[in-house]
Amino acid sequence: MTLTRTLVIPTTRTNTERLTDRSALTGCPWHDVKAMLRQVGLRPTRQRMALGWILFGKGDRHLTAEMLYEEATRAKVPVSLATIYNTLHQFTEVGLLRQVAVDGSKAYFDTNVTAHHHFFVEGEDQVFDIPDAVVAVGKTPTPPEGFEIARVDVVVRLRRKR
Ligand SMILES: [Zn+2]
Repeated sequence: MTLTRTLVIPTTRTNTERLTDRSALTGCPWHDVKAMLRQVGLRPTRQRMALGWILFGKGDRHLTAEMLYEEATRAKVPVSLATIYNTLHQFTEVGLLRQVAVDGSKAYFDTNVTAHHHFFVEGEDQVFDIPDAVVAVGKTPTPPEGFEIARVDVVVRLRRKR
C-alpha cells in the first residue's frame, strides 16, 4: 500500500459542522481516516479504517460493494462482502457517502456527497458526474402537506450511438 494518495474529505451541508474541524487532520491519509470516522461518531475499527482508506484515498468516485470488495482483496485487506455492505451503509448513514440509485439491481456509492447529478451508461455499469451541476430540473413539484424536498437526484441514462 502506498501512502501518497490524497484524501478527499467529503462534505455536505448537514455535515459541515461536524467536519469543519480540519485541525484534527494531519495530512497523513491514515490519520485523516481516523479523524474523519471520529468526527462522524464511528469507532475507527481496523476494518473501517482500511475500507475508509481505500474508499477516500482516490478522490471522487462511484463504487459498488463488489468493486470495493475487489479493491480490498487486492490490497490484502481481509474482509467479507457482508462487512463491506454494512460498512458502506454505515458510512452512508453518517453522511460520508451518498448512495446513487441508478439501477435497481446495483447500488453505487459516491465519495462526493455534495449536490451533483449523474450520467449512467446503460449496459456498461458506468456512473459518472454531470459537470457543474447544471441540470435543468424543470419545475420542482410542490411537496405534499407536511413534507419538504430533501434532495433532487437526476440520473441521465446514456447509451452508445448506433
Ligand atoms: Zn457522483
